[in-house]
Amino acid sequence: MRIPPGSTIGIIGGGQLGRMLAGAAAELGYKCHVLAPDADPPAADVAAHCTRADYADCDALGRFADAVDVATYEFENLPADALARLGAKLRPGVASLEIAQDRAVEKDFIERTGGRVARWARVDSDDDARAAEAALGLPLVLKGRRLGYDGKGQAWAREAGSAVAAWNAIGREPAVAEAGIAFEAEFSIILARAADGATAVWDVPLNLHAEGILRRSQLPAPALVEAQADEAIATATALAAALGHVGVLTVEFFACADGPIVNEIAPRVHNSGHWTIEGAVTSQFEQHIRAICGLPLGSTRRIAPAVTMDNLIGDDVLGWEKIAADPEAKLHLYGKGAPRPGRKMGHVTRLG
Ligand code: ATP
Ligand code: MG
Repeated sequence: MRIPPGSTIGIIGGGQLGRMLAGAAAELGYKCHVLAPDADPPAADVAAHCTRADYADCDALGRFADAVDVATYEFENLPADALARLGAKLRPGVASLEIAQDRAVEKDFIERTGGRVARWARVDSDDDARAAEAALGLPLVLKGRRLGYDGKGQAWAREAGSAVAAWNAIGREPAVAEAGIAFEAEFSIILARAADGATAVWDVPLNLHAEGILRRSQLPAPALVEAQADEAIATATALAAALGHVGVLTVEFFACADGPIVNEIAPRVHNSGHWTIEGAVTSQFEQHIRAICGLPLGSTRRIAPAVTMDNLIGDDVLGWEKIAADPEAKLHLYGKGAPRPGRKMGHVTRLG
């Protein structure tokens, strides 16, 4: 199925990822139609059409489905049953969404596909929380199965007997407990998969987090990460194939002394791939549009010896004038209005 330029691409979700997807789509001659519940979604600023509706509003989804030639999503916390009505127009399909939006289903899937994850257990009761602490040891992180992002909905248990308190701290939602990993570094594999199964992978960024939020991605990654890249790429490629994924897929990894461990999957473009806008022949955003529209994949070749992408989180964005005054800094602002603590407001990329 080839969706030619001039067609309309539906983007479900109105955040910065949707905004950057719409920009890339426009460069290839497509129009975008954003569906989001928010009053003023950042993606709508750069899209031809916007429907403001709840993601579970079946009437609105039906009209949206009729209005677009292909549809994609920019985040995964969406009602899969409602999106299923988009049928074959939805790329990636519902399977990628269903698996990535539930941490327990996701971990089962990764293990069945041959990937390694942190030792984990389901937690649905106080007894489960105590049993997880006994089985997995400390430290332990409790994560809500659904709706997490940027480390939200997570709590650590570090002292004996504190797993129940950690589960309480995340609201006693259905959860997973994960053994804390003493990783050496974090990195991500970002790949694109076409409908015919062709895949393209970018170079591997080192990802630096603070308080559960990505702060910086940088390339080249250190040798200890590079040494694990081939194994991680094989895992990510197998996961994408098992999902029948079409589009960009991101797999976050912990680099451990005994090899790569999968942290989680994002069935979409990813913050750790923003460096590709200036740093690669084809950005993750253009590549996603190419994949879902049935165009050939572009080259993922890195075009600078070193690339650094820094997020502008919360008040960081107030320094935009200084960044804009640096002729070597590529400033991206998401048009989100007032900064809030922990909110991703923009990013800046530097080639070296
Ligand atoms: P995002 O969607 O922004 O990637 P998230 O809310 O899905 O975030 P995770 O990726 O699960 O969160 O965790 C955020 C960060 O917390 C990780 O990148 C890592 O730094 C740390 N972390 C998560 N799980 C573990 C673990 N089992 N052991 C050690 N550190 C962890
Ligand atoms: Mg993560």
